[in-house]
Amino acid sequence: MGICAEVLVIGGGAAGMMTAVVAARRGLGVVLVEKNDRLGKKLYITGKGRCNFANDCDVETLIDSLVVNKKFMYGAFREFSSADTIAFFEGLGVKSKTERGNRVFPESDKSSDVIRALEKEMRRLGVNVRLQSEVREICMSDDGGERICTGCVLDTGEEIVAGSTVVATGGISYKATGSTGDGYVFARSAGHSVSPLYPALAPLDVKESAASDMQGLSLRNAGLKVLDARKGDLLYSGFGEMLFTHFGVSGPLILSAESFVVEMLSGTEVKLVIDFKPALDEKKLDQRLIRELEVSPKRSFVNVLKTLLPSKAVPVFARIMGVDPGLRACDVDAGLRGRLKKLLKEFELTVTGTRDFNEAIITRGGVCVKEVDPKSFESKLVGGLFFVGEVLDVDAVTGGFNLQIAWSSAYRCAMGLPG
Ligand SMILES: Cc1cc2nc3c(=O)[nH]c(=O)nc-3n(C[C@H](O)[C@H](O)[C@H](O)COP(=O)(O)OP(=O)(O)OC[C@H]3O[C@@H](n4cnc5c(N)ncnc54)[C@H](O)[C@@H]3O)c2cc1C
Repeated sequence: MGICAEVLVIGGGAAGMMTAVVAARRGLGVVLVEKNDRLGKKLYITGKGRCNFANDCDVETLIDSLVVNKKFMYGAFREFSSADTIAFFEGLGVKSKTERGNRVFPESDKSSDVIRALEKEMRRLGVNVRLQSEVREICMSDDGGERICTGCVLDTGEEIVAGSTVVATGGISYKATGSTGDGYVFARSAGHSVSPLYPALAPLDVKESAASDMQGLSLRNAGLKVLDARKGDLLYSGFGEMLFTHFGVSGPLILSAESFVVEMLSGTEVKLVIDFKPALDEKKLDQRLIRELEVSPKRSFVNVLKTLLPSKAVPVFARIMGVDPGLRACDVDAGLRGRLKKLLKEFELTVTGTRDFNEAIITRGGVCVKEVDPKSFESKLVGGLFFVGEVLDVDAVTGGFNLQIAWSSAYRCAMGLPG
């Protein structure tokens, strides 16, 4: 004999736990099933273990942070905003602090505090949490011509019968955390379309060895333009922190850029144009170069480069410029100075691809939002079936926005679940 519940939540990540808490606060009987032996495995590694769980911004900024399907989340963000998220966790005893870019973290810098707070609240509310319980399939039946979801079957064969079934299984990035794409299979079995999946917020591979030669070098404030190499069209531009790696480039600025171009990468040659000196316009940079070259004319050109660049970049710049190691500052003519200026402002790399899902922060694509009601997050095809969090085709840039999608969709869904 299986178990019965008013609400069945599949997945004990951010969206699943929030759904369970809010539904249980409304007095609904909730069962949450999670295939891992613990809850919130992905949540644990968010923000490098510090969990950037919100962004302290207004609703318009939340909408702007979305890369696709902006309109779909509007109502949910209005109903449960960043301020609501911060207050919600404060109410659970998680004090927060706000850092650069309005990123909100637990004051303790521990993602485990966020998970523990949700677990404790579920315990207090009597949510039936079942760990190591993997859902094999969702069950559907015909109710007078209307298809309804009646619950699920676990891989043990055990059945869970529920009035409402909420799929909160996440995407397919960082599979070791449990997000293996099962929700897409459930959605398809219910007749839903799943839009193509891409690794988003992922590092990029580049062709030139210059990147790996500078591996480990982090630029705290770089400018970046992403161009369609053939047409010259600007695909993305931004400022921020980036990192050179053994395969190419990474860091928050690159991850955000990747998110905007990932769908084009297979058919378009994409170039990155990096500005090492975004705070100086061409004229000011030229004046600075002249000053550096004149200050001690006998100095070697390489030593001049050391005053302008982090040490890991110096040999790379010298090699690309093809300068004689013995070249002195006083021998640098306007042509060479112009080439250095161009390299500092427009350092080009060619993208050869993106890293795979195991290095992608999130999954682009997912359950097609046209088939889900944004007011309730209920399927428009099957009654009693709901989708929340990353399983949906909604994603955002970095900064706490992706977790906000999870919290807001879960809150709105849970508030509308029938009693
Ligand atoms: C390294 C990393 C860092 C990140 N940092 C941040 C950050 O700082 N801020 C931010 O906003 N976002 C961050 N994100 C993104 C954020 O973690 C996700 O957007 C968010 O976790 C999605 O929540 P979710 O509940 O939809 O899915 P998940 O958190 O992936 O949870 C899904 C859960 O469902 C379970 N599950 C799956 N299939 C089944 C099944 N068949 N049966 C039972 N259970 C199942 C999984 O085991 C999992 O626990 C980060 C992501 C990564 C990978």
